[in-house]
Amino acid sequence: MLSTTIGEDGRATQAQHLSCLVIDDCVAVDAGSLAMAVSDKQRENIRDIVLTHAHLDHIAGLPLFVDDLFATTKRPITIHATREVEEVLENDVFNWRVYPRFSELKNEFGAVLRYARIDPEEEFEVRHLRFKPVEVNHKVPTTGFIISDANTRIGLTSDTSKAENFWRVLNAERELNALFIECAFPDSLQELASAAFHMTPNILRRELEKSKQAIGRILVINLKPTYREQIIKEIKSLKIPKVEILEVGKAYEF
Ligand SMILES: [Zn+2]
Repeated sequence: MLSTTIGEDGRATQAQHLSCLVIDDCVAVDAGSLAMAVSDKQRENIRDIVLTHAHLDHIAGLPLFVDDLFATTKRPITIHATREVEEVLENDVFNWRVYPRFSELKNEFGAVLRYARIDPEEEFEVRHLRFKPVEVNHKVPTTGFIISDANTRIGLTSDTSKAENFWRVLNAERELNALFIECAFPDSLQELASAAFHMTPNILRRELEKSKQAIGRILVINLKPTYREQIIKEIKSLKIPKVEILEVGKAYEF
């Protein structure tokens, strides 16, 4: 997961203000910190961005990433998104008022930005990866994914509250090497978590009990920076097997 936040010493911190995972240095899943935190190699390679939903912390770095590559990219940047997410981007972000509508612009090599529609019912391929979309339970239409290559399978819930559908799909699949699962608020903010369709440590524990699947590692993501220490304390006290807090900026191998 890319770093998202710079602390007062000018270095990246563990705070997860934004969300962006990069797989094999070439495919981004969400784009919260994409422009700001990618390495040169990643900026050179990434032309596919798969979006889970259109909340700001998942797309903040997208307009700037496209802008940075506008003059030089030789192939279009492809945004893989559901119809709802594409509509938000075109109507509310790339609308000439907030930022240019890059999908209408060309550089000397051709198109700069294109969309590939995600059908929530259909698996799709991006580079060497296979994506199975899984509808989750968030305030806006949001897609989790089961992502696989020839050897490895990972699950990603994105932002969600209790996610019956996610477990139903997961339990019908084969085992996972890793699951990235959200936990945004501490238990004391259960009401806020419910209203915003996020999880707390207690919900996380109960949700994980619904998994019948063998999962190698469980990495908790999307901890709201303000409550990070509290959430970690609560998760640790629950002693859920295999659960660890994702380290921002770290490259994971599965
Ligand atoms: Zn969200």
